[in-house]
Amino acid sequence: MTSVITFGAYLALLVVAAVVWILFLRIGLRWAKVADVTLRKLVLAFFLVTLFEIALRVGVLLAVPRDRVQSWILVAPLLGATIVVPCVIISWVFKARLVRSLQAWLPTLMTSAVSWIGVWAITGVLAKAFVISSASMAPTLLGRHPRGICPECGATCYSSASALESGGDETPVDTICEAFHLHKLDEMPDAWGAADRLLAAKYLKPRRWDLIVFRFPEDPDTPYVMRVIGLPGDEIVIENGAAYANGERLPLPAEIGNIKYVTFADDPWVRDRVWGTRARPARLGPQDYFVLGDFSPRSRDSRLWETGAPGHPPYAVPAENIVGVVTHIYWPPNRWRVLR
Ligand SMILES: [Zn+2]
Repeated sequence: MTSVITFGAYLALLVVAAVVWILFLRIGLRWAKVADVTLRKLVLAFFLVTLFEIALRVGVLLAVPRDRVQSWILVAPLLGATIVVPCVIISWVFKARLVRSLQAWLPTLMTSAVSWIGVWAITGVLAKAFVISSASMAPTLLGRHPRGICPECGATCYSSASALESGGDETPVDTICEAFHLHKLDEMPDAWGAADRLLAAKYLKPRRWDLIVFRFPEDPDTPYVMRVIGLPGDEIVIENGAAYANGERLPLPAEIGNIKYVTFADDPWVRDRVWGTRARPARLGPQDYFVLGDFSPRSRDSRLWETGAPGHPPYAVPAENIVGVVTHIYWPPNRWRVLR
């Protein structure tokens, strides 16, 4: 259902954009006094320019700008490409001089601003795109990550980029595999994978086990993604690897059936500060959610938070901090997944 709504909205926008595009190019060509304009040529020009723009965007995605500085560097060539290349295509399709093509292209270029407003409206109301930045949700959602082989089952296992990068090598490193086995490995092979990009729907109400994007009260500018364990009104306790709500053990959904939630019981530095233990149960108010990462030993989630949002306990994600429910992983293509 979320696929129908999300991609239906994008498809509708695409169709409208195509019609507007062709209409305005027609107006532009008439203005530039280009002769012999047929619908066939217009559609051909549309497909060629669109094909080029898709290739350009995929190229940018593949280049994976890791921070904003790099992506700003891309702006100038991108702008150049969106003006120069379509003009060359129009010039070729309609056998017009380049200056005439530029004139013909101008009205359409203006309307692409309208398309951007459409995209902005969709991201504002329906769905928003995010890039995963940490390993706390591995193996379900992956940030840029080192990967290896699980010694227990041979499946791919993942570790946290920060464990290997900040301060060099933290060994042995915690890993989690596709089957949720937790192991410490002395060495990780030098194989890295890209971060997942995902869509989050703003119109969905979070249910238990959903993955949500939220603003962490202690760091409201960074979007965090975690799994909803506790709903408003619940009392959450984690024991023997499982989560309990109001004294009832919560059955895990099949796709995360092997997950073991940890409470750092053998870590004297942390164990007395963990929320959601028998000694410190997490009691949720009418607007509060309790969230955990799937990579439990490496996840800084509700269990470990110290300062909450004003008027809420430290372990709570207040409803107003929730940005959306994760519905799809859309990139990289081999990680495509519908999550709700
Ligand atoms: Zn395994």
